[in-house]
Amino acid sequence: MSIKPLAKYFFMDSYYTASTPTRPGFEALKGSINADVCIVGAGYTGLSSALHLAKRGYRVVVLEAETVAFGASGRNGGHVGTGQRMEQQDIERKLGHETAHCLWNMGLEAVDNVRDLILQNAIDCDLKYGDVSFAHKLRYCEDLEADVAFFNNRYNFNDLEYIPRNRINEVIESDAYYGALWNKAALHLHPLKYALGLAKVAMDAGVTIYENSRVQSYSGTPVIIKTDQGQVTANELILACNGYIEDLEPKINGYIMPINNFVIATEPLSPEVAGSLVPKDTSMADSRFVINYWKLSADNRLIFGGGENYRLGFPGDIKSFVQKYMLAVYPQLTNTQIEYGWGGTLAITLNRLPHFGRINGNIWHLQGYSGHGVPTATFAGKLVAEAISGKHERFDIMANLPTGKFPGGTLLRWPGMVAGMLYYAMRDRF
Ligand SMILES: Cc1cc2nc3c(=O)[nH]c(=O)nc-3n(C[C@H](O)[C@H](O)[C@H](O)COP(=O)(O)OP(=O)(O)OC[C@H]3O[C@@H](n4cnc5c(N)ncnc54)[C@H](O)[C@@H]3O)c2cc1C
Repeated sequence: MSIKPLAKYFFMDSYYTASTPTRPGFEALKGSINADVCIVGAGYTGLSSALHLAKRGYRVVVLEAETVAFGASGRNGGHVGTGQRMEQQDIERKLGHETAHCLWNMGLEAVDNVRDLILQNAIDCDLKYGDVSFAHKLRYCEDLEADVAFFNNRYNFNDLEYIPRNRINEVIESDAYYGALWNKAALHLHPLKYALGLAKVAMDAGVTIYENSRVQSYSGTPVIIKTDQGQVTANELILACNGYIEDLEPKINGYIMPINNFVIATEPLSPEVAGSLVPKDTSMADSRFVINYWKLSADNRLIFGGGENYRLGFPGDIKSFVQKYMLAVYPQLTNTQIEYGWGGTLAITLNRLPHFGRINGNIWHLQGYSGHGVPTATFAGKLVAEAISGKHERFDIMANLPTGKFPGGTLLRWPGMVAGMLYYAMRDRF
C-alpha cells in the first residue's frame, strides 16, 4: 500500500503562520534507525506522547509527513475547554455516574496539563483565561442557567457564571444572543506557537523528530515502520494522525469522519473596538450545531471560526465564506478588512467521544477528538505514556468508551453523514 500526500493538504498561510516567523526545520528520515517508541504525526497527540514518554526514559522518534503542526494543531481556534465534547449530562445518562465522574476529572486535568506545560516550560503562546458560550435561541438559556447548578452540585465545580440577556453587554457588544455562560476555568492560546513549544520541550527531553517523512506502511513485532527513504524499528507504534490518517490503518479509520472547518483573522482592531467585541478577552463560542467560535489575538485581531464542509477540498474564497458568520454576530465589522482565511481538517466520531485503542498489543491509536483536541489530544499523550509504562487503567477507561463505526464504512459514511450534518445545520437556521 502506498500513502500519497493529497494536494488538499497544502500548508495554508494563516494568521498563525504569519505571527510565528521562526519555525524549526527538521530533516527527513534517511536510512534505518531503532527506537523504543515510534510516533506517526507531529500534532498535539504525537508531540505530547513523545514528550511524556521521553520524560519516562523512552527513546522516541516522531515521523511527520509534512512539517510539525501541519495538521489541525497548527490551524485551530486555540480554545481549551473543560469537559468533553459530548455534554456532561448526556455522558451521565449514557455511561453512568462513575464513568462520567472519571471523564469530568480527566477533562479538568487535561486543561491543567496544557496550562502546566505552558507555564513550566515558558512556552510563549499568548495564553489567556476564560471562555463565554452564548445561547442563540431563547430556550437554550434555561440550559445554560441549569448548567451552573448542575456542575456546582454534582461536580463541586464553581467556575461557571450565567449572564442573562439584560447583562449581556458585560461579555459582548452584539444583539445576536439571549444569554451566556462564562467559564472561568477554560483557557485559550495561539495553537501553532503552543505546538512548536511542545516540539521544543520534547526535543530538549531527547525526542528525535523527522519532517517530510510520510509513513507508507508498517508490519511485524517489533514493528518496522517504513517511509520513502528510511525505516524505524520500534517496540511500540503510536498513530497520531487524527483527521489526516487517510488509509494508513484501515482498522481504525471507519470510526472517524474527517471534516473541514474554517477560520478568518481581521486586521488589527483598536483597543476600544476589540474591548467592546470581547470585553473579558475570553474565547467565545455559540450554541449552533455548526459552531461559531472566536477570540482576540495578541495584536487585537478578531480570530473567527465558522462554517465547515464535508468533502475533499476547501471553498475557493474562505474569507467570504466565514465572514458572513462573523457579520451575523458583529454587523459593526462590515468595513473591517479580513486579512487571513484558512482551513483545517479534524476527525469527529459518531458520538463525539474520542476513539483510543490498541491493535495487536503494540500499536496504539488516539483520534476523534471532535473539535475538543487542544486539551484532549495533549492529555491523550500523557495517558498513552502512562499505559506504555504499564499503568493503563486511565487509558483503558478512554479505550472502552462506546465509540461506534460510521455506518457504510469509509466510503458510504460520507453521504449519510453529510445528510445528517446538513439537517442539523438547517435546523439551526430555522
Ligand atoms: C479549523 C479548526 C479549528 C479547531 N478549533 C479547536 C479549538 O478551538 N479547540 C479544540 O480543542 N480543538 C479544536 N480543533 C480540533 C483540534 O485542532 C484537533 O483535535 C487537534 O489539533 C488534533 O491533534 P492531532 O495531533 O491528533 O492531529 P493533527 O494536529 O491533525 O496532526 C496529525 C498529523 O499527522 C500527520 N500525518 C498523517 N498521516 C501521516 C503519515 N502517514 N505519516 C506521517 N505523518 C502523518 C499529519 O501531517 C499531521 O501533521 C479545531 C480543528 C480545526 C481544523
